[in-house]
Amino acid sequence: PTNDIGHLIRKADVPSLFQSRKNDTHKGSYGTLAVLAGAPGMTGAALLASRAALLTGAGKIFVALADTPPLSLPCDPMHPELMVRDAAGVLDAADALGVDTWVAGCGLGTDDAAKGWLTRVLQERPDANVVLDADALTLLGGDQVMQAAFRQRKGIKVLTPHPLEASRLLGSDTHAVQADRIAAACAIAARYGAWVVLKGSGTIVCSPSGAWRINTSGNPGLATAGTGDVLSGMLGALLAQGLLPEEAVAGGVWLHGAAADRLVEQGIGPIGLSASEVAQAARWIRNQG
Ligand code: AMP
Ligand code: MG
Repeated sequence: PTNDIGHLIRKADVPSLFQSRKNDTHKGSYGTLAVLAGAPGMTGAALLASRAALLTGAGKIFVALADTPPLSLPCDPMHPELMVRDAAGVLDAADALGVDTWVAGCGLGTDDAAKGWLTRVLQERPDANVVLDADALTLLGGDQVMQAAFRQRKGIKVLTPHPLEASRLLGSDTHAVQADRIAAACAIAARYGAWVVLKGSGTIVCSPSGAWRINTSGNPGLATAGTGDVLSGMLGALLAQGLLPEEAVAGGVWLHGAAADRLVEQGIGPIGLSASEVAQAARWIRNQG
């Protein structure tokens, strides 16, 4: 079945990535994203996801750092467009701020504080979209209260595990996941009622109802730190911009891989390709049409 063209994600399958902006719009038209991420020592993960969301076109972005005030990083000097706050501050104000999409988990940590913030993300504002990655997946896999809150949410839900994280969500092991990646992605989608992006060479996208596809873009240049954080930020930004979930998830996955492919064409990868450059190349591809 992996040869079935109907199961492939190619550029022609994700046209809404390339819809041009209407003149009569403003930043509110492109969504408000909050990124719960970046415990001390992992601040870069929060910045990678947030900067990628900015370059993917989200209207407003709050970086909800997994830290308490005073923050060691009050703003991103490279991207002062990002509003850096403490996690509780963003959660307390999420209604007033109009957060419509959360990205959570990149370098979040798994301590009690992280658990508390993530539980709030899942329990409050059930209409918001959520993209869970990395530590958020580890926490979700081990906590039934979070799983119940997650299942009851009405917004779009996306889980972006690599094989080890997938095994934690399933209570299995990476060998079992890798032995049948399609089955693993579909099993997670069914168990959690979510869109699933099972990452790695030949990323699988599976819908909550079990429709799966295999991405055709990307290369081993992506096997480097931070590229997963960039993917979550891109997916969150596309959801915040109101793309349908199938186009946002498949589109974001394709765009991330296509960006890496462009960097290889330019001699910027595969060796030494950096995650920040993936977000920049993705922006170029999207604007180029
Ligand atoms: P993470 O494991 O969270 O750091 O995410 C890594 C990202 O890079 C995911 O989007 C993977 O699909 C992608 N990636 C890693 N290794 C490869 C590879 N060998 N070929 C294609 N994509 C890869
Ligand atoms: Mg990761």
